Amino acid sequence: MSTFPNGMNIVDLHCDTILSCFMGKKNFRELEGHINLDKLKAGGCLAQCFALFIPSNELAVRQFGHEVDTWDLYNQLLAIYKDAVADASDVLRPALSCSDIVENSKNGYMSSILTIEDAVELEGKMERLEQVYKDGVRMIALTWNFENSVGFPNSRDPEKHLKLGLKPFGIEVVQRMNELGMIVDVSHLSEAGFYDIVKYTKKPFVASHSCCRALRDHSRNLTDDQLKALADKGGVVGINFCDDFLNDRGEHYSTIEDVVRHILHIRDKAGVDSIAIGSDFDGIGSKLEFKDYSGLPLILNALEPYFTADELEKICHDNFLRVFADQA
Ligand SMILES: [Zn+2]
Repeated sequence: MSTFPNGMNIVDLHCDTILSCFMGKKNFRELEGHINLDKLKAGGCLAQCFALFIPSNELAVRQFGHEVDTWDLYNQLLAIYKDAVADASDVLRPALSCSDIVENSKNGYMSSILTIEDAVELEGKMERLEQVYKDGVRMIALTWNFENSVGFPNSRDPEKHLKLGLKPFGIEVVQRMNELGMIVDVSHLSEAGFYDIVKYTKKPFVASHSCCRALRDHSRNLTDDQLKALADKGGVVGINFCDDFLNDRGEHYSTIEDVVRHILHIRDKAGVDSIAIGSDFDGIGSKLEFKDYSGLPLILNALEPYFTADELEKICHDNFLRVFADQA
């Protein structure tokens, strides 16, 4: 695929910006975090994945002091996403497929892709999966950091991390997502769940916002074997900019060099075709050397000595577009 017009270059596989809209009652223009419309434009956005983060009851009790109706919350967040996208329609348009992204870019629009972080709201009901597809969701991170009806999350306890994977309903969800053309996202899933995906998915899958475990030993990161297994299935890893996944310096600071190091590691272990960007913007508290979305070109400049122009295009957008197109 060739270069897109007007400097549109980057597909970012994960951000929590919708949560910022929800908490701050702001639209995409007004936001003051890592992402807003001006910052997307300045950073060279081709398409942004916007996740609806649905808190599980374990988290809701901790955060809000009471349980939540996860399906009701999903619908509230969906309404906020739709309002924010409608309000930005002079520069941003929704994309339900790879060809929508291409079409939008031809007309000068950036694209938004709707995703879910934590399938907790499915609550074991397959009809809800059908509904979220109809609502325009095209990628689902199956768990966050708590067990749900689909399966078990990453854990610092190796017993759990390596043994507790997908539940029978989770296997059905993966198979139905394959049929519908929704991307399975394994970020936050246990290692056992990851290998269940390898076993059951017929389509390429992604780790939308994870890093390399060989460089930073964290249960949210992928081992070299996982990187290879994901690449063998034609999938991609979106590199997360959270300092805790990139380094163990404990400074709450992510450098450009950290990001480059993880990207080069994926290239060496799994190949350039499995590298993507999964910022986790507006979901991470780390201080960033490149500040926010508008600083992404600084990372691309730092990658230039290591990659050809074609390879950089793969990292920026072509790898993800291939995975998205392969869902059809
Ligand atoms: Zn996350």
